[in-house]
Amino acid sequence: MTHFQQWSKATPKEKSSMVQSEIRTVQEQRRAKAVELSRQGAWMKWNLPERKITWAELWRMEPFRISFMLRSVYDTLPSPSNLHQWGLIEEPSCKLCGERGTMAHILSGCKVALTQGRYRWRNDKVLKHLAEILDIERRKKRPSKTEAKQIRFVREGDTGHATKSQQHFILDKGSEWNMRADIGKKLVFPECVQTTLRPDIVVWSQSSKMIVAIELTVPWEERCKEAYQRKKEKYTELMTTCRERGWKAWL
Ligand SMILES: [Zn+2]
Repeated sequence: MTHFQQWSKATPKEKSSMVQSEIRTVQEQRRAKAVELSRQGAWMKWNLPERKITWAELWRMEPFRISFMLRSVYDTLPSPSNLHQWGLIEEPSCKLCGERGTMAHILSGCKVALTQGRYRWRNDKVLKHLAEILDIERRKKRPSKTEAKQIRFVREGDTGHATKSQQHFILDKGSEWNMRADIGKKLVFPECVQTTLRPDIVVWSQSSKMIVAIELTVPWEERCKEAYQRKKEKYTELMTTCRERGWKAWL
C-alpha cells in the first residue's frame, strides 16, 4: 500500500499517530545530527509571521506534504548535500549545475533551475491560487459610496468600531473592482498610467479611483526582508505616479 492509500484509509486516531510518528522521525533525525544544529535551527532566525496549522488542515494534507514541510524546516530533506553527509552518495553537488547541492541551493538558488523555469513554475502555482481567491473577493457585492455613507446602526453592547481585519481590507474601501493577473498572457497595466512594469496582479476600481498592485515573490525564508525591499523599490515610482493622477494606490 502506498503512503497515500494508507493515509486515506486511516481513522483519525491512526492519522494522529502517523503524524506523531512523522514528527518523531524528524525529531530523531534532528537529534542524531546535533552537530549541525546551526543549520537545523535556522528556522529560529526567520523573522516571519508564525504559520499556524490546525489539526483540521493536517487531516486534509497528503502525508508527503506534511513530511516535506517538516523536513524542509529542519533541513532534513534528501538534498545532494544531505545525502552525501548521510553517506548515501559520493558527490554533494547539484545535478543541474555542479555547485554544492544544499537545500537552499536546490529550492531557491540554482541558476540552471532558474533558467529552466522551475522556480517560475512554483511562483505561478502560488500566483494562480492567490488570483483565484482575489477574483472571488473582488466580485463580492459592496455598498456603493452613497450607501456606505448612510447611518450605521450599532448593536447594544457593540462599540461600533470596525475590527482590525475590517479596517485593513482594501477592497472594502471601494466597489466595482476589475482585475488582471500575469498568468498565461503578459499583464498590461491599467490605462490610468503608462508603464512597462508588470506587477503579478492589478486590482483597480475606475469608479472609486483606487488601484492595488500585487507583486508576488517566493523567496528563501531568510531573504524575505531583502526581497520585500527590492520589490518595494521597484514599484515606488509607479505608485507615486498613480497617486499624482488622483488615484489611491497600494502595493
Ligand atoms: Zn544547481
